[in-house]
Amino acid sequence: MRNLRIGFDCDGVLCDFSGRFVQMANQMFGTNCRASDQATWDYEQFSKAQVDKVWAEIRTTRDFWAKLDAIEPDVTLDDVEALHTPIFITSRVPVAGDSIEMQTQSWLLEKKFVTFPTVLVVPHYSLKLPLMQALKLDSYIDDKAETVEQLQAVGLNCYIYDQPYNQAVTCAPRVKSISEYIKDVEAKLGTI
Ligand SMILES: [Mg+2]
Repeated sequence: MRNLRIGFDCDGVLCDFSGRFVQMANQMFGTNCRASDQATWDYEQFSKAQVDKVWAEIRTTRDFWAKLDAIEPDVTLDDVEALHTPIFITSRVPVAGDSIEMQTQSWLLEKKFVTFPTVLVVPHYSLKLPLMQALKLDSYIDDKAETVEQLQAVGLNCYIYDQPYNQAVTCAPRVKSISEYIKDVEAKLGTI
């Protein structure tokens, strides 16, 4: 098997950001919404003012990014790290506590058993495209429609991670698990 440079988005692919966001909003506003009902990217269950308040709370929560749950808690990436070169690219915003990189690295070590995680933080999601090109990634997976559409438009090998809020995306292969993603990338590119 060839060593592949396999890219990962974090939130909505590995880390359950939406679950935590909706949980915080429910606590703050006394609502009873579910992340599985989120039909669009913008948390349409809540008002714009409510969404802004949750973001303000996130920014002041110490090490918020290090404390998220895993979407697939039983899946680790130590075998991927042993065989390939995983690279984690995120456009997370700064929060209180450690740097975004350190929080994300701690999370990957603790939850996914990645011993030396390469984490790159971009200030805007649109910068994932030039970064993926510069790094010559073999593949990338994201949950955001715009990102996947941008990458696909220039012929990059990109996958959409299945989420209730990205069902409209049809331009990229849809995968329902990380193992499905890895297997597909290995099958397509692992022996070239
Ligand atoms: Mg994401």
